[in-house]
Amino acid sequence: MRETVYIGFGSNVGDRLDFCDRAVTLLSLLPHSQVTGISLLYETEPVLDHAQPGNGWFLNGVVQLETDLTPRSLLTVLREIERSLGRDEDNRSGPRTIDLDILFYGSRLINEADLVVPHPRLHDRRFVLMPLNELDPLLIHPSLQQTATQLLATAKDQSEVRLLFPQPSTRYGSRPSCSPRPDL
Ligand code: ADP
Ligand code: MG
Repeated sequence: MRETVYIGFGSNVGDRLDFCDRAVTLLSLLPHSQVTGISLLYETEPVLDHAQPGNGWFLNGVVQLETDLTPRSLLTVLREIERSLGRDEDNRSGPRTIDLDILFYGSRLINEADLVVPHPRLHDRRFVLMPLNELDPLLIHPSLQQTATQLLATAKDQSEVRLLFPQPSTRYGSRPSCSPRPDL
């Protein structure tokens, strides 16, 4: 069944813009799926929670995807994209060329050892909530029962998140447009 999924992406090492651009392009090529929204890019201070990503600031954004892929298949694909873009598997929590997280999968609640959806830290992370709020301010977190706007207003995270300026003008050149399907 087709579900609306939100995927967070971030990069804080190397050519961050190129890694983000490639990741979004690869997401747009997934089978049984269509990218229906891409947020602007945000430049964000590294948050030192459970990970140790180093000092490099991140570029972050969120992609909205309509997909028939199961959550498990999607996780596998995201890991493959991370690997293909040079994510250091031996030091996963260190600086990352690309990090891809399933934020929401429709309104499903998933609690498995290696897959928790909604992503367990998204409501504390302004670098996720800002682009989510941009894409769909009324999106409801299925267990917290709050909209993206409400979560952003109450997030305790004070780390800096700013719109990348200028936004790269060529970003969408290499990938299909993300306008809705004509039959929707
Ligand atoms: P983080 O993104 O929180 O900094 P990692 O990218 O190192 O951490 O992810 C560690 C593990 O988190 C992955 O191997 C994956 O199995 C697991 N994981 C659990 N839930 C999710 C999710 N919703 N999206 C992506 N990965 C997840
Ligand atoms: Mg991750």
